[in-house]
Amino acid sequence: MTPKFSLCVYCGSRPGATPKFADAAIAVGRWIGQNGGQLVYGGGNNGTMGILADATLAAGGRVVGVIPRSMVEREWAKQDCDELHVVDNMHQRKSLMAERADAFLALPGGLGTFEEFFEAWTWRVLDFHRKPVALLDLDGYYAPLLAFLRQSVGHGFMNDWQMDMLTVGNDVGTLLPQIVEAALRSPGGMDTSEI
Ligand code: AMP
Repeated sequence: MTPKFSLCVYCGSRPGATPKFADAAIAVGRWIGQNGGQLVYGGGNNGTMGILADATLAAGGRVVGVIPRSMVEREWAKQDCDELHVVDNMHQRKSLMAERADAFLALPGGLGTFEEFFEAWTWRVLDFHRKPVALLDLDGYYAPLLAFLRQSVGHGFMNDWQMDMLTVGNDVGTLLPQIVEAALRSPGGMDTSEI
């Protein structure tokens, strides 16, 4: 069956220090599965990435993993994805994930999560795509980052309209329908020639 939507999720290759991060990843995976959706993610087996993919599959969702060969060789890949794309490098990975997604969501994560999230948001700002980009600010995890970004607006290096292109929420059950409905209302293609 064709999935109703594809949500690209960036999250941690570690589980985080408390179970609330895994719980949020499970809630996201369940929501995707229960709503007939497809997860597009980095294809990893570890941390909240693996937890998210397992929860999506368990709830009847489809899972598309995209992972560089070097990570597969380190046995980091989740082999039971519905589709596992092994690519040559990180640029190909992020480009393919972006192409396959209707919307982007970052959960709490680390350096890799930040990098992927900022790239999706920057591409949106540059009009390389028009897909929703969202941040799950679980229990204020991203509050210091959001404060810093507002400071950057105050210092004249960012604009309010760039901030407005980011959807921030702290509740999975509210944020996911918001971005998925927005994505389905006005699909925003990805121009990969620009990246
Ligand atoms: P982070 O938020 O730093 O945990 O980054 C998640 C990203 O880091 C993923 O997209 C992967 O590219 C990469 N990564 C780092 N370590 C691993 C691992 N052990 N398994 C899978 N992906 C990993």
